[in-house]
Amino acid sequence: MKSDPRDYQLDISSIPKVNAGPAPVTTRPYLSVLFNCCKVYQRVYRDTEGSSYTGRCPKCLRTIRFVVGEGGTAGRSFVVE
Ligand SMILES: [Zn+2]
Repeated sequence: MKSDPRDYQLDISSIPKVNAGPAPVTTRPYLSVLFNCCKVYQRVYRDTEGSSYTGRCPKCLRTIRFVVGEGGTAGRSFVVE
C-alpha cells in the first residue's frame, strides 16, 4: 500500500511571517524639547507614521507638534515658547 508523502509536509507558505509588522518601539527617534512656558525639558517621540513629532508639556499640558520636513533637520533640541 502506497502512502501519500504529502501527508507529512507542512505548507510553509501558509504560515504568516513572525517578523511582519511595525519596527520595535525602542528605536523610535525623539527630540529634546524645552517647554519655556514651564521651564521643563521633555522628550518628544516621533509618531507611528514617522511624519511628525507630537509632545505635550508635562505641567500645563499644552500640545506641540513638529512636522518632519523634506530632508529633515540635524537639530535634535528645540525650545517651545
Ligand atoms: Zn507648560
